[in-house]
Amino acid sequence: MKCRHCETQLAHTFLDLGFAPPSNAYLTEADLCIPEKYYPLKIKVCEQCWLVQTEDYTQADELFQPDYAYFSSTSSSWLAHAARYAKEITELLGLDKTSLVIEVASNDGYLLKNFVAAGIPCLGIEPTESTAEAAQELGIPVMREFFGKALGQRLAASNQQANLIVGNNVYAHVPDINDFTKGLAAALRPGGTITLEFPHLLQLIKQAQFDTVYHEHFSYLSLFTVSRIFERAGLRVWHVEELPTHGGSLRIYGCHAEDLRKSTSTVSLLLDLEKKSGLQSLDTYLNFQPRAETIKNDLVEFLIQQKRAGKKVIAYGAAAKGNTLLNYAGVKPDLLPFVYDAAAAKQNKFMPGSHIPILAPEAIMTEMPEFVLILPWNIAEEVKQQLAPKLPTNTQFVTAVPHLTIT
Ligand SMILES: [Zn+2]
Repeated sequence: MKCRHCETQLAHTFLDLGFAPPSNAYLTEADLCIPEKYYPLKIKVCEQCWLVQTEDYTQADELFQPDYAYFSSTSSSWLAHAARYAKEITELLGLDKTSLVIEVASNDGYLLKNFVAAGIPCLGIEPTESTAEAAQELGIPVMREFFGKALGQRLAASNQQANLIVGNNVYAHVPDINDFTKGLAAALRPGGTITLEFPHLLQLIKQAQFDTVYHEHFSYLSLFTVSRIFERAGLRVWHVEELPTHGGSLRIYGCHAEDLRKSTSTVSLLLDLEKKSGLQSLDTYLNFQPRAETIKNDLVEFLIQQKRAGKKVIAYGAAAKGNTLLNYAGVKPDLLPFVYDAAAAKQNKFMPGSHIPILAPEAIMTEMPEFVLILPWNIAEEVKQQLAPKLPTNTQFVTAVPHLTIT
């Protein structure tokens, strides 16, 4: 397999999680009678551009179910994050009713509704029917398509170049990152700004966040690699911020290569930090697998101990990262009988692979668990605050990554 950015032959495996079903293929009761498809879940690293990427496998198209529905508005902390961003960027760029804001992967309108409220014209791009529909109901125009070079050029040709293009948690999920980036360049007005948020590879490595690996997540990105991809598409990163979201993300600010804005010192400082942290040395990547194994072993040991002690452990949050963790660890309902989740679309379904039933959070009270394993550790505090009043005072909360923690 060749690198998706620079086409160097990929020779090194960063992480091998065996085989797993697609992390968002939640199952109905009827699905449980049908064989489930498993795909290899292996991550490679490119020695030339240091792009960390999923290994190619056949039938990749099957992974993207048209009815897959994650509604961003489910998370109140994410909504607050989006509202804060909209306010800050509007002031920074001086956006007004003559501007155009395009969001790629606009989901259910969780972000663009803030621009609508401020009277700033916007356009969402979102191929998923159900979320696109929810956004349109909020008054947001949505194009139901995948974004890439061809769509970027069509937007330019129809006088719809943007002052601001936003991409939150989409950049790492696109299979052809070069084509997507060329699309950004084509759809950006001269003098315009691109902001992209994605989980930072540095945090994945530092905090052993191996459970953020799943098939639909094609790239694991550093500023170094993104700067190279931007450069090749005629763009430049001129500013970067570190964010706490998703266990540590970057928000990069991009512009056309010939833009007169000077790059801020944040860019060179972070590039230095990445280099000093070993993101451009092969050993860093080759030493990662044993850390994932330790986390897996500690979790399995904990679940078996509690089972033997007659204590009940249930899980909260049917997130993609939970599926990666549970399937890698081989956990089944005998050790973890239920997962509770606030998203109605997932309730009364089953986790892919592990087949653990997913229930509405209201049902958690009747279980009286001794332990609640929070699978989306990135929103652990929010979950604890919501659940604590509903549970017995002696209930303890558990997170597995970066190491088993019981509070
Ligand atoms: Zn490469």
